[in-house]
Amino acid sequence: MDCIFCKIVAGEIPCYKVWEDESHLAFLTIGPIQEGHTLVIPKIHVPYLFEMNSDAYSALFEAAKPVAEKLKQVMNVPRVAMAVEGFSVDHVHLHLVPVTAAGQLDPCLEKKEADHTALAATLAKILKR
Ligand SMILES: [Zn+2]
Repeated sequence: MDCIFCKIVAGEIPCYKVWEDESHLAFLTIGPIQEGHTLVIPKIHVPYLFEMNSDAYSALFEAAKPVAEKLKQVMNVPRVAMAVEGFSVDHVHLHLVPVTAAGQLDPCLEKKEADHTALAATLAKILKR
């Protein structure tokens, strides 16, 4: 299957891994709209959030909780916001975005260039906690 997220799960494409468990993976997106912008995905390929079975759906949102808590602390923000859209990659992914004010979750905000030095520095900050 030609799915970039499945390739990341399989280890065929590297990622800035924030967290994982048996069934989920969280990693920094290479097109962040805010620093620390992280994607949480099920390891199994599922195209559409609302077609997931209830157990998998609940488990995905549970998986996002410790990741969001960590991002909140490390990025020192009052909230981590969440969005699901799914037009860019056809594999369910929750966007976790550290925010300090309304409007910072807008998916139409310009993505920052994939700056690998900055991403590596952000990941180091997260993993240090
Ligand atoms: Zn996939």
